[in-house]
Amino acid sequence: MQPPATTSLDHFLSGLGAERVWAQVLIRRAGAGFELRHQQDRAADASGLRPVAVAALRRLAEVDGAGGFRPHHTAPSLVSGWVCAVADAHGLKEALDQLYPGTMDDWAALVLGTARPTDFASVAARQMGRAKGLQTLRGRPLLATISAACSAASCLKHRRWNAADVPMDDGFGKSGIPCLEPCPLFLGFARSCAGADATPIVETAFTPQELGTLAAALRHALEHPPAGIRTGDWSAPLHARRLTRMLELHAELWSRASEPAGEEQ
Ligand code: SF4
Repeated sequence: MQPPATTSLDHFLSGLGAERVWAQVLIRRAGAGFELRHQQDRAADASGLRPVAVAALRRLAEVDGAGGFRPHHTAPSLVSGWVCAVADAHGLKEALDQLYPGTMDDWAALVLGTARPTDFASVAARQMGRAKGLQTLRGRPLLATISAACSAASCLKHRRWNAADVPMDDGFGKSGIPCLEPCPLFLGFARSCAGADATPIVETAFTPQELGTLAAALRHALEHPPAGIRTGDWSAPLHARRLTRMLELHAELWSRASEPAGEEQ
């Protein structure tokens, strides 16, 4: 159960100090109110930033720098170049709920002990229909799925829910916002992975050199993502989460890649 908003807010304010970064947003006290801006704009003159009203923050958070839909609020892709002034503490809560819905309440609930992180097995056990496939995801395939979906490159929440045989998130590169249970985006990706893992495998063999080419191609595609792949389009072969999972899941295979010596011309 989440604490009342005033409790979350009071607790948040008590630890705020002169400023605080919340995911990618820098919050500063400004007289009786607060100022919010992207942390990349920390040193920018406010007159050079676009003023945005609290009511417009949700729309701002829905679109990435390329104009694409941004379904995951804690993805590290919030646009910069704006500033939002709020008059009081309740305005601050409203602003953060527009940018990062529910995160202040989750943080306070965890700190105050009124909520506890869940575990993957209990979430998988609640799934119905085809989603029951999640229950087959465990061990290394689950670890690779989590590494691909919940890394700092994809999400700034600090994963606090756990899964059997999967190390806890060390929080490196993450924000102070806790993730108390697998989000819908993660579950969608995990369902897709479980479904793919259940299909018959293709027996094949590669030379070490061919493995090197394959691994290099995967890394190249990850570093140069094609435009236009939607975040939740798990059917896209070059989706960054699919590439990351494949590199992670078959790490032992890639480690056997090699180049024959003495073939340079
Ligand atoms: S489940 Fe993973 S991707 Fe989803 S909010 Fe939590 S840490 Fe982020």
